[in-house]
This record gives sequence, structure tokens and C-alpha cells, in this order.
Amino acid sequence: MIQKTLILLKPDAVQKNLIGQIIGRFETKGLKVIGLKMMNLDDKLINEHYGFLADKPFFPKIVSYMTAGPVVALAIEWEDSVATIRQLVGATNPIEATPGSIRADYAKNIDNNIIHASDSPETAEIELNRFFNVSTELFDYTRTLAN
Ligand code: GDP
Repeated sequence: MIQKTLILLKPDAVQKNLIGQIIGRFETKGLKVIGLKMMNLDDKLINEHYGFLADKPFFPKIVSYMTAGPVVALAIEWEDSVATIRQLVGATNPIEATPGSIRADYAKNIDNNIIHASDSPETAEIELNRFFNVSTELFDYTRTLAN
């Protein structure tokens, strides 16, 4: 099924000059980019996005990590994009991430795991609305020039 999903390149991805390499993984796979922007996350956005972890002892670490610099938000539309991208991203803890996945290749540790990807189509819809103005910042286009 065609799905839209959200990816965040976290502040360490931006600061390590990995934006292009990581987006390149998705483009190489053929996935269609329908939205892209750099932004700073404020406390309100972080609390919405990671509120389900607010009672965890590591929550303050998440807040300082995610506010250490800008992130790059990416919207993707493709067949089964949620599961496909979660597979390319790898497990939350880079030690457990499949070899060759983005987190296995680039992430330092679970505190700095480089990338976020929505975990279900329902979450993806909420998250796309959280990070994008979906009526003006997401694009519906056909690849008429691709061949
Ligand atoms: P994800 O969907 O793979 O990103 O994983 P989760 O939804 O479980 O967690 C969200 C984010 O919280 C992760 O990507 C990490 O940045 C952070 N996180 C989760 N578990 C831990 C943990 O045990 N320690 C630390 N420091 N951060 C964690």
C-alpha cells in the first residue's frame, strides 16, 4: 500500500555532514521525497514527539540531544514506506541494528542514534502533521522526467 512517512535526521546527522549520505540511501532505494526542510525543535514539539518517554530516566538526554542543533525533516511517499524505511534505519540501539543499516553504519550509540522514522502509518500521519504544514510543504508530483 502506498504510504507517507516521516524521517528526522537528528542533530548529530546534520553536524557530522551525513545529510546527503543518508538521504542518498533513500533515493538509491527509489523512494520518493515529497517534503524536505531544516528546522530547530522547540520544547513543545519535543514533548509532543517524545512525550511517551517523558517518565523515562533518559528523557532529559533526549531533550538536550534533540535541541543541540537543527534537524532535517523528510517526508517520503512509497509502497510500504513505513516498514521499508524502518528496515533501512535499523534498531533503536545501534549495537543491535542490522549490519548495513543506517544506524549500524553511522550512529554512535543509543543516546545519539542519528535518525527517526515513523513506526506505523497512523503514527506517520500524526508526525507528518507535527513537522510539516501538509497543505503547503508536502508535494504531489509525477516523475515524468525520471527516464
Ligand atoms: P525508535 O522508534 O527506534 O526511535 O525508538 P523509540 O521510539 O523506542 O525511542 C525514541 C528515541 O528515544 C530513540 O530513537 C532514542 O533517541 C531515545 N531512546 C530510546 N530508548 C533509549 C534509551 O534506553 N536510552 C537513551 N539514552 N535514549 C533512548
